[in-house]
Amino acid sequence: MAEAKTVHSPLVTYVSMLSLLTLCPPFVVLLWYTMVHADGSISQTWEYLKQHGLQGFIQIYPKPTAIAWKIVFCYAAFEAALQLLLPGKRVEGPISPTGNRPVYKANGIAAYIVSLVAYLALWWFNIFNPTTVYDHLGEIFSALIVGSFIFCIFLYIKGHVAPSSTDSGSSGNIIIDFYWGMELYPRIGKNFDIKVFTNCRFGMMSWAILAVTYCIKQYEQNGRIADSMLVNTILMLVYVTKFFWWEAGYWSTMDIAHDRAGFYICWGCLVWVPSIYTSPGMYLVNHPVNLGTQLAVCILVAGLLCIYINYDCDRQRQEFRRTNGKCLVWGKAPSKIVASYTTTAGETKTSLLLTSGWWGLARHFHYVPEILGAFFWTVPALFNNFLPYFYVIFLTILLFDRSKRDDDRCRTKYGKYWKVYYTDRMSAFDNVVGGKLKLKGKALDVKSGSIKKKKKHKKQYDQISQVTENEKLEGGSEDLSADANEESDKFNGEGKIAHYDDHLTPAERRYIEQRESLDVQRLAKTANKSHRDRLQEFNQYLANLSEHYDIPKVGPG
Ligand code: NDP
Repeated sequence: MAEAKTVHSPLVTYVSMLSLLTLCPPFVVLLWYTMVHADGSISQTWEYLKQHGLQGFIQIYPKPTAIAWKIVFCYAAFEAALQLLLPGKRVEGPISPTGNRPVYKANGIAAYIVSLVAYLALWWFNIFNPTTVYDHLGEIFSALIVGSFIFCIFLYIKGHVAPSSTDSGSSGNIIIDFYWGMELYPRIGKNFDIKVFTNCRFGMMSWAILAVTYCIKQYEQNGRIADSMLVNTILMLVYVTKFFWWEAGYWSTMDIAHDRAGFYICWGCLVWVPSIYTSPGMYLVNHPVNLGTQLAVCILVAGLLCIYINYDCDRQRQEFRRTNGKCLVWGKAPSKIVASYTTTAGETKTSLLLTSGWWGLARHFHYVPEILGAFFWTVPALFNNFLPYFYVIFLTILLFDRSKRDDDRCRTKYGKYWKVYYTDRMSAFDNVVGGKLKLKGKALDVKSGSIKKKKKHKKQYDQISQVTENEKLEGGSEDLSADANEESDKFNGEGKIAHYDDHLTPAERRYIEQRESLDVQRLAKTANKSHRDRLQEFNQYLANLSEHYDIPKVGPG
């Protein structure tokens, strides 16, 4: 699985990797310091650093103390024990690029309940006070920074000398190997899955544990919990509960099924999640805002709705894949693409791509409620300081990058079928806006066009399913995927061509020229053209689109 190829240009990749490797650790410390000791104010921290320079930074940098190591070690050991010992259903993950299918024990929700109950019981029975965690938070983060770095070195060495499966390999570059990881499914022994531990049982669990910790700290400090803190904690806990409820589904997402175990994923889950993801709550401990019942309830309901939609997107996709497309999506039989691809071992396999429901709206629609959910659990902090919003901004950048990476990967994997999925989003968009396609703020009525298109789609969809199932792709999906790569990049949200590339085929070039001459903006604005003419032009444009691809569009399956 050697993958020296990177998504971004080599320069961007190296600069971003090296800066993340060197800047993330001090950033975690500065964020904690600002939240806890500088009133959440970036300018206060900035002034301090300006005055005291590097020496000042070294002074505020917390050392990983013995109590911090003890807390981290006990927590990690407890979670590892739960992962190994709690019963759970046997779940199979998706087939890996080299044809392996990892097997898991789905005991996430049980581990989550046991962890929270145990933590609250320790507090209730005065065995361990969670405020200790808050009081030593800087030292704990410091211990996590060092410990996780050592852990990533261990993963790198293990990847070289004792990989757990054939889904492993080196890019030949030590920095890339360390940063992106060597193994897709590293395990200790047969059963202890390292990524389940780092991502789920350590990282995501710490999110819930710390959310509760911040709440308890505010309660012990002020004798009450502000409604802002309550809204923040409830939303974060609902989000994490959703995660563990659906944990087996997470095992078929990019983090587990595509990203290898290296600094990017593992350090991120072991350090970045506990420190950055929980930071709005960390801020609220010393900034209790009273929102009032009405506002608090509105924010809570909006946040819950976003988390629900995000959950429903993931659920729809997984239910669809689990039942092999034999399920209902929004009360109807789902429309789909039967996409074939070739594994690195040369085997041809098929996957189903859902093209209706949430997945018919956009390729990564689920990221929208994800970002909005994070906004709603941050907004109780109101707008006195910028720093609580760091997570929302970071998440937005992360998910943009992620959707690009996933898109590139899926284009390479599915080739022309991914292209079909891309173009099909346009017809889904038609349906959603009730037959009105908006161009530059003006609406074009394309209802009759859509009806025709739908009928045509149905016929063509049947063809493509047949092609997929009965024939091997001529020329292979790799060539087509390169074409597809170019294609979606060419359009921005206004239907204009964003850029050309030397790799265009003559057919693509002809198509782009036609498309340019069509000039969708003029089309939308031309007042002296009849409604019918505009419709015809638009339908022609849609027809060009399908012809260019030389493949039919899809319809309900
Ligand atoms: P996705 O759930 O988006 O899965 C992407 C994969 O799904 C693709 O690689 C492809 O894999 C498959 N796929 C793509 N389109 C379709 C389709 N139409 N029908 C069926 N399968 C399809 O993965 P993510 O990991 O990005 O997201 C999972 C969840 O985690 C989301 O809720 C997201 O919001 C959340 N998340 C949260 C983050 C955070 O930091 N808070 C970060 C990242 C994600 P295949 O090869 O199997 O076809």
